[in-house]
Amino acid sequence: MSTITPKIHDIYKQVVARNPGETEFHQAVAEVLDSLGQVIEKYPDYADHKIIERICEPERQIIFRVPWSDDKGNIHINRGFRVEFNSALGPYKGGLRFHESVYLGIVKFLGFEQIFKNALTGLPIGGGKGGSDFNPKGRSDNEVMRFCQSFMTELSRHIGEYTDVPAGDIGVGGRELGYMFGQYKRMTNRYEAAVLTGKGLTWGGSLVRTEATGYGAVYFVDEMLKMKNDSLEGKVCSVSGSGNVAIYTTEKINQLGGKVVTLSDSGGYIYDEKGIDLELVKQLKEIERRRIKDYCDYHKHAVFKQGGNIWEVPCQIAMPSATQNELNEEDAKMLVKNGCIAVGEGANMPTTPEGTKVFLNSGVLFGPGKAANAGGVATSALEMQQNASRDSWTFEFTENKLHGIMKNIHKACYEQAEEFGSPGNYILGSNIAGFRKVADAMISLGLI
Ligand code: GLU
Repeated sequence: MSTITPKIHDIYKQVVARNPGETEFHQAVAEVLDSLGQVIEKYPDYADHKIIERICEPERQIIFRVPWSDDKGNIHINRGFRVEFNSALGPYKGGLRFHESVYLGIVKFLGFEQIFKNALTGLPIGGGKGGSDFNPKGRSDNEVMRFCQSFMTELSRHIGEYTDVPAGDIGVGGRELGYMFGQYKRMTNRYEAAVLTGKGLTWGGSLVRTEATGYGAVYFVDEMLKMKNDSLEGKVCSVSGSGNVAIYTTEKINQLGGKVVTLSDSGGYIYDEKGIDLELVKQLKEIERRRIKDYCDYHKHAVFKQGGNIWEVPCQIAMPSATQNELNEEDAKMLVKNGCIAVGEGANMPTTPEGTKVFLNSGVLFGPGKAANAGGVATSALEMQQNASRDSWTFEFTENKLHGIMKNIHKACYEQAEEFGSPGNYILGSNIAGFRKVADAMISLGLI
C-alpha cells in the first residue's frame, strides 16, 4: 500500500490477523484503505468513531450445511454462506455466487465491496453477499432445484424484505432464483416479492435487471470517455467472460457504435474480427448452456484460443467481465502497449492491484468495478421499488433511470477524485465517495 498512513496500516494488519487465509478479502480491504489516508486527516470524526475498524468487521456472518441428493440418489454436502456486512444505509443487499471456488474469503471480499458499491448508487441498500461452493454447471435442472431448495431452507431464516435481500451473481441466474423464491414462498406462506431480486418477469422481476450490469458498465465507460471528448463510436473492444455481464456489455457497446471482438469462458477465448454475433452467443449461452468455443462451429472465420490469454488481443477498450483477478500486471502492460485507452470493470475486482497500477500510471481511464458495475445492484433496488408499490415499469423508463444512476455515480467519483487532489483517479474517487456515505450514516446511527 502506497499512500497509507501508519494508523490505517495498523488497521489493515489487524484485518489480516483476524481473518487469516482470506486473501481476496485482504486485497479488497487494502484497495479501499489505500484511498482513505487523506479522508481520515480531513475528517477526524471518522477515526474518533473507529469507522474503518467497524466497517471492516461484518455485522453478521452465517455459515451453514447444505445437504442434497443428486439424480442417482448420491448425497452431497455443500457449504452455504451469507455475510451481512453493513446495514447503515438499508437492508443488506448483494448477490449469491454458486461456484466451486467459493469460501468465506471470497464472500467477504464481495460483501465488503458491495457496501461501497451500493452506497454509490444513492439508493437505500446496505451491503452483503452469499453463496456456496456448489457448481450448477453440468447438473440437471432437478439437481439444481434440490440444491436451491436445501440452500433456501436455511437461508430463509436470515433474509427478508427489510432485513437482507439476495440476488444473483456467478452461477446464480433466473433458474436458480426461481427455485429459491419458490421454496421461500412455500416455507413462509408469503408472496414477499422483494425478498429476492433478479426475479423472472412474470413473477415480480424488473425489466432491464438482466441487462443492467453490462449496460451500466458501458454507460460508465462512455461517461469517462466523454470527459476526454471521446466516445465509443468505432472503438474496438475486448470483453472477457460470456455470462450475463459480458453478453449485455457487448450489446450496449454495439448499440453505442463500438465493436466487440472477443468473449471467453474458463476454456479459452474466441476472437471474431468482424465483431461478435451476439444473437448466436445468447442462443449458445443463455438457452443451450454451451461452451463459448462452439461459436466457431457456426462462424468459421472466428478463432478459438484454448487456454489463451484474452488480453493479448489488441483493443482500445477492455472490459473484464469474468471474475476476480483475471487481469494481471503483464496483461495490463500488454493492453497499454497495444493502444488500450480505457478499462471498465464489469466483474468484481477483475484487475490485480499491480495491474491497476499499470493502468493508472499509463493514464488509461480506469473504471473500477464498485462504480462501473453498480448498475446491476442499482436495478435490483429499482426492482424492490416496483415490488413495494406493486407496479411494473416499462423497459425505457427503467433503462433511463439506470442511465441517470450511472451518470451520477460517475460524477460523484470524478468530483471526489478532484477534491482529494487526484483528478481522473476513479479508484480513489469511488472509494472515498462510497466510504463517506456509509461512514456518515454510521456516525448518525450511534455505536451499534
Ligand atoms: N451480484 C451483483 C453485484 O455484484 C448484483 C447484486 C444484486 O443485484 O443484489 O453487484
